[in-house]
Amino acid sequence: MSTWDYEIFWKEALNQIRQELGEHEFAMWFNMEYLHSTEKEIVVAVPSSFYRDQVTMRYKNLIEGKLHELAGKDLKVIFEVRPRNKDVSPASQSIKENGHSTNNEISSPKTPKTEQISVPKKDPHPQLRQDYTFDNYVIGDNNSFAANAAIAIAKNPGGAYNPFLVYGGVGLGKTHLMQAIGNYIHQNSNARIIYITAENFTNEFIQAIQANKTAAFKNKYRFVDILLIDDIHFLQKKNETQEELFHTFNALYDANKQMVFTCDRPVSELKNLSDRLRSRFERGLTVDLQPPNYETRYAILQKKAESRGVQIPKEVLELISRNVTSNVRDLEAALTKLIAYAELVGKPITIEVAQQHLKDVFASPKQTNMSIEVIQRVVADYFSLSINDLRGKKRTQNIVLARQLAMYIGREITEYSTTELGMEFGGRDHTTVMHACQKIEEKLRSDPSLDPILQKLIRDIKDYSTKN
Ligand code: ADP
Ligand code: MG
Repeated sequence: MSTWDYEIFWKEALNQIRQELGEHEFAMWFNMEYLHSTEKEIVVAVPSSFYRDQVTMRYKNLIEGKLHELAGKDLKVIFEVRPRNKDVSPASQSIKENGHSTNNEISSPKTPKTEQISVPKKDPHPQLRQDYTFDNYVIGDNNSFAANAAIAIAKNPGGAYNPFLVYGGVGLGKTHLMQAIGNYIHQNSNARIIYITAENFTNEFIQAIQANKTAAFKNKYRFVDILLIDDIHFLQKKNETQEELFHTFNALYDANKQMVFTCDRPVSELKNLSDRLRSRFERGLTVDLQPPNYETRYAILQKKAESRGVQIPKEVLELISRNVTSNVRDLEAALTKLIAYAELVGKPITIEVAQQHLKDVFASPKQTNMSIEVIQRVVADYFSLSINDLRGKKRTQNIVLARQLAMYIGREITEYSTTELGMEFGGRDHTTVMHACQKIEEKLRSDPSLDPILQKLIRDIKDYSTKN
């Protein structure tokens, strides 16, 4: 028995936080189990290191602030990772469990995992690609939150995460993930599922108006169980379609029907979108997909080569993973090109063949442009922040400094203009970048401890670019 027992403060702090955040967010992140206390600490269990990092970033200050108010002294919260079952990959474990979705699904992604969720056989869904399954989706740091949330939704559609909105750049796996949800639900239930791109949704709606069949259109979309709409950025300026989707949304939302949307940017950055539709999109869970890191790129290539039944030497996979950094689509394209060549000339795929035939792919500007992301990643890591913090709007001291440093480094070591840099930092204006650079220059003059940090960051960035 410990002399110190702060469980009562812990419980009350959580109670108050629940009221402040609301059930939805609370249920998502506060799946913690009180373990014990010491004089100055409260130790609680969390299900994974990913979860621990997220919670530390998002809520540690809030929790410790509450504890301070309640206990009248500083109490640190220590998150101890206690996976529920070490033998099973957490993501595949979560889908096998029958309970309703809890945040335990958010798993640690240290090594990229390939989903092992076998799907029972049933006729394929006519609108879904059969190979877009969780089985074929490699989970890495860049997508683990999105992927685990998608799995939770597939298990329990219409539950806690409605709507589910995935955003991110081209070729990062948005469509694959969305369809994996559809495929899983299709295979495991009799739910009526519609997958459609926002563009086709718009076209269909226009045709319905022209043919005087809007009632049929409404019926079709307002009475589905699962609605998957891909690439909603297409809806910008399509006012009537937005209006129609708004009503569809409300009907489905009220009936607890699951909706999933994808978008190529944060919804807040969409222009010419009605405020009420925007607020609906943002009502549920929003997650972003980042470009995959080296390990994940390697794992994806391995998976793709395997599924095509081709043997590819390790050095070749390493070569491609190192050089194609933009997105998964480009990664796959490089592999396809290589396989096609080897088949055509009947030669084995060697490192020489790969080097020779992928030269153009590797040299494309897209691949060399990755440096801003690398800069953001290295700087964010150094400050224990996420890339999104640097691109986002938060203005805590720490984030502002990190963001300004990253912009400064971007200007120093890349060819990007301040306008382009601004775009890479969440669509900021070029004057913001110029201001950031001025600030850092001033700081460098007044604070001698900053320069060594800056130099270390630049070294790490260069190292990272050559190794990855
Ligand atoms: P987006 O919709 O974001 O543009 P897609 O979903 O079309 O991207 O993905 C592009 C390609 O990359 C697809 O062939 C998809 O299967 C593949 N892909 C993307 N992410 C992954 C991943 N994590 N694991 C395996 N394949 C992936
Ligand atoms: Mg897509």
